[in-house]
Amino acid sequence: MSLEQDSTFLCPYCSAENSLQVDLTAGRRQNFVMDCETCCAPIVVHLTLSGGEVLSIDVRRENE
Ligand SMILES: [Zn+2]
Repeated sequence: MSLEQDSTFLCPYCSAENSLQVDLTAGRRQNFVMDCETCCAPIVVHLTLSGGEVLSIDVRRENE
């Protein structure tokens, strides 16, 4: 079983697709901030995992 999973999400600022390596061992709920690969704006990412897979990726602008 893989410990990482590739996921993608859309930047809430510029709608560019960003790729993300999700660490499946880091817990069922993960919150962190990462910079958009295209516009470099800080994106707040909320991950929900279930059964070793990514259930949902919720992204927001940092100031919301
Ligand atoms: Zn962006």
